[in-house]
Amino acid sequence: MKTYIVGNWKLNFTVGEASIYLHKLLKTLPNYRDIEVVVAPSTIALQPLSLQVDRHKIKLSAQNGFYRDYGAFTGEVSFSQLRGIVDYSIIGHSERRNILGEDDKMIAKKVAAAIRNRITPILCIGETESERAFGETADVIRDQLTGGLSEVSDDDIDKVIIAYEPVWAISSTKAAKMATPDEIAEVVKLIRKNLKDIYGAKVAEEVPVLFGGSVKPSNAGAYLTVPGVNGLLIGGASLILSEFTDIIETAKRVSS
Ligand code: PEP
Repeated sequence: MKTYIVGNWKLNFTVGEASIYLHKLLKTLPNYRDIEVVVAPSTIALQPLSLQVDRHKIKLSAQNGFYRDYGAFTGEVSFSQLRGIVDYSIIGHSERRNILGEDDKMIAKKVAAAIRNRITPILCIGETESERAFGETADVIRDQLTGGLSEVSDDDIDKVIIAYEPVWAISSTKAAKMATPDEIAEVVKLIRKNLKDIYGAKVAEEVPVLFGGSVKPSNAGAYLTVPGVNGLLIGGASLILSEFTDIIETAKRVSS
């Protein structure tokens, strides 16, 4: 299986800045066939960057999309509009769940809309700090996974990527708030068990599961060697070109 290295730029970079970053990344990055390098710029930058990117080296991802293809939905951008521009879309990021009020029902519709439009959803799931403290991690993971995948048929599950992002470990600078490889391994095992219960053993093994939460060049190697982890979703460190390329190099080293 490929190793996925996905940079989530969130609400950062103007279109010009995004274009310069992409230009530099394309220049420095070899064509690693076994590493799927993906960047997720703001929606406004996606169309121009799609004309600039070399898809053999780097794929584009949206950070979100709307679940209806067209209609009276002021301010939204649909997956049908993103079709052909991006290969992936992050869906259900904790910032969208917790700041913008997205629930599992809406997320499920978005996952289905992405698949319908030939865009691979990267479904983000993960518990908050208090949910973990109250021993609710397994329930949250099961609910978000089954909820987010509720419209995905047996035929389409191979088109989905899951990203485990414990909310308490996102954008953290404190060691105590970084996930340990053991903590990640335990939840990834749970994710694969849930996938097995719904879709069977083969799917449980084959669906890519990424980890995200304060990934840096210094911890990427340890996270990439957690059993069952097939890649990383990176926020802050993906904004710094040298850190992002360091993480890609680490992925190359670990996978070969
Ligand atoms: C994220 O928000 O998807 C993320 C993983 O951010 P960071 O790497 O900054 O923790």
